[in-house]
Amino acid sequence: MGRFSKVVIVLLLAAGIAYYWLLVNAGPRGVAARPFDIAALRAAANAERGAKPTGISFVILATRRIPSASLAAGTGLRQVTSGVIAWRIDTPGGGIVLDPGLSPADADAMGFTGYNKAGMALVDDWMGRAELILFSHAHVDHVGRFLDHPQFDDIADKALITPGMLGGINALWRENGSHIAKTRKLGPIEAVAPGVVVIQTPGHTPASQMVYVQLASGREYLFTGDTASLAPNFERATPRSRLLSDILVPEDRPAVIGWLKGLKALKEHNKALVLLPSHDADWVQENRAAFGIVSELGSKPSRD
Ligand SMILES: [Zn+2]
Repeated sequence: MGRFSKVVIVLLLAAGIAYYWLLVNAGPRGVAARPFDIAALRAAANAERGAKPTGISFVILATRRIPSASLAAGTGLRQVTSGVIAWRIDTPGGGIVLDPGLSPADADAMGFTGYNKAGMALVDDWMGRAELILFSHAHVDHVGRFLDHPQFDDIADKALITPGMLGGINALWRENGSHIAKTRKLGPIEAVAPGVVVIQTPGHTPASQMVYVQLASGREYLFTGDTASLAPNFERATPRSRLLSDILVPEDRPAVIGWLKGLKALKEHNKALVLLPSHDADWVQENRAAFGIVSELGSKPSRD
């Protein structure tokens, strides 16, 4: 074998190993599941007196095409739409906003190609009317639009920010230093409104949370935050690629895998429970009728 051929073979092997490690490997193996106690979630949802939420609405604020494997290791290079999805839990008190998304400049900086300005105006309005604003975690694509709200001083007190989230949120503050001082410590599972329960799920960030919702109709939802960005994360219990979780957006990978195993088991035992991943724009759009959730601005984000 010529020297050139050997070099080519070594390079191909190295590329193959790098591809496998960075985009396919879903380990470490043997991580124990972190279980979700559905009975405890239901009990907490029913412990708060008052009217439960009546529906779930969403807006896709920004989109970009990415290889599936980047957000779900081992799922291949097929392009999927990663979207920034803002959610509203419809309540009699004006609604609860979950993850109001980000502003156009941050969307640009993160490589999102489509931005939905009409959606941004709607989410601003949601926050203006809301009784409560929740965040799955303190990353800019989940918190940014809250910080940039045109009437920030009027809405700031509606945000439920845990002590563990405060550092991340104030690090995103661009102009006047730390504006947020009010925090509320939550237990591992804690109701924040009738039918709405926040679950502490540290892993993607140390203060990451999921939100369980039981509507007045009895229908149940679990918002997974970035622990499951795409549906395959919980369908296969596969985490983000190591390219993301070890290098670009470091997270506690074993903890995330534990939660994903917990979500997979939870879904298997509760087939009617709807799991809603944070960035799976295609999947959420395609299944919205089956899930009984409402896309506020039609089926596709506008590209203005
Ligand atoms: Zn995110």
